[in-house]
Amino acid sequence: MAKKKEKNEAEIKLKKFFTSKKGKGLRRCVRCGTTKGVIRKYGLNICRRCLREIGESLGFYKHQ
Ligand SMILES: [Zn+2]
Repeated sequence: MAKKKEKNEAEIKLKKFFTSKKGKGLRRCVRCGTTKGVIRKYGLNICRRCLREIGESLGFYKHQ
């Protein structure tokens, strides 16, 4: 059981490392703050979900 606990602690450390705000490579959605699916193209820095929501007001339209 001790080994399992060690592993969990290591995972928590890893999670903290990856979710910490340090690092130049971490891009966040300026709207909702997620780091997943963030689109940096055109200097948007918003995630694909927010792009779908506010994309129309920014001039982006989906193909019909
Ligand atoms: Zn977003």
